[in-house]
Amino acid sequence: MYVVAIIAAAGEGRRFGAAVPKQFARVGGRTLLERSVAAFARCDRVNEIIVAGPAGAGPELMAGLEGCAGGKTLRAVAGGARRQDSVANAFDATPPHADVVVVHDAARALVTEDLISRTIDAAAAEGAAIAAMPSRDTVKRVGRGDLASAIVRETIPRDEIYLAQTPQAFRRAVLADAVRLGRSGADATDEAMLAEQAGHPVRIVESDETNLKVTTQKDLAVAEAIVKAGGPGPKAERVRVGIGYDLHRLVEGRPLILGGVRIPFERGPHGHSDGDAVCHALTDAVLGAVAAGDIGRHFPDTDPRWKDADSVFMLRAAVEIAREAGFTVESADAIVILERPKLAPHVEAIAAKIAEALGTPAARVSIKGKTNEGVDAVGRGEAVAVHALVVLRAEC
Ligand code: MG
Repeated sequence: MYVVAIIAAAGEGRRFGAAVPKQFARVGGRTLLERSVAAFARCDRVNEIIVAGPAGAGPELMAGLEGCAGGKTLRAVAGGARRQDSVANAFDATPPHADVVVVHDAARALVTEDLISRTIDAAAAEGAAIAAMPSRDTVKRVGRGDLASAIVRETIPRDEIYLAQTPQAFRRAVLADAVRLGRSGADATDEAMLAEQAGHPVRIVESDETNLKVTTQKDLAVAEAIVKAGGPGPKAERVRVGIGYDLHRLVEGRPLILGGVRIPFERGPHGHSDGDAVCHALTDAVLGAVAAGDIGRHFPDTDPRWKDADSVFMLRAAVEIAREAGFTVESADAIVILERPKLAPHVEAIAAKIAEALGTPAARVSIKGKTNEGVDAVGRGEAVAVHALVVLRAEC
């Protein structure tokens, strides 16, 4: 099943009463839009995310969101005048092979992966499904008009009432019908209404208490309280660990470079690039943490571009690949096994250089020198070997 999520984030939020539209207001340090994107990124069912943002907010909008997409395909389209126009624009960008398209309001930033999954599964089975809450209060119908003059006309049985929310999921063909109806002039406050009008049954999926829509500043305070109390969202930080190893023979006529630092010695690593085993092991560890292959795949030693190349560049490139997958480097630890010369005088400089390449404070980078006690080729000083481990943390 291929699932595309559309996040509607083009609204001006007039009732919100702030300088920025509410989707850019922050809860627990993250904007509502970032939290919504992150929720869909965490949901295994979702393959791709399309954000319908305010017209003209393209590149800046995307720059901030990439780290929240967890490596999933993320695109932005310009929203329209009405919410349904924004969703229609995003729908046009969905691939024809999508099985299910799930629409969500950015303002419901505390949506859970469980609710998203249940809505998608119900739509896959039955064509259309929406998250909704049963009414807890008794429901009265009044005549149109202002509240002051409203007179109750009837009491509607409470068990027949559900309050519609998002996510709302549809088989792609069903949403295509709804979008077509909307474009032919029908006005709707949600996509389900258009799907109903197009004759499709819409299944109710019971929503979560926390799936509130932030409309006012008071709602924002409630959302903040839910996050603080351990509610949905990035409180359980995603962590990845990667391991790397490298060995280079030490030969005459080559400079000894370790962790981007040149160390005075009569021999240096044989290799296609500068042979910096610290950078190579760490590069493999970073790539491994996000399952993005290895150094040989990204920087083949058959490529003349990497001949005598500064390996710090490769490490930076691996960190960028991890960043695109939504991760930053939390910490790194490496053991450098080198018989001679003594590494101790250089570990601080190496850690500083590596920390800069990893984009993390030097205090979180550890470089440890060891000898092999004269045992084996490394012990005879014929080679340098490095073991490395990195911890990455999800940005969003
Ligand atoms: Mg190497």
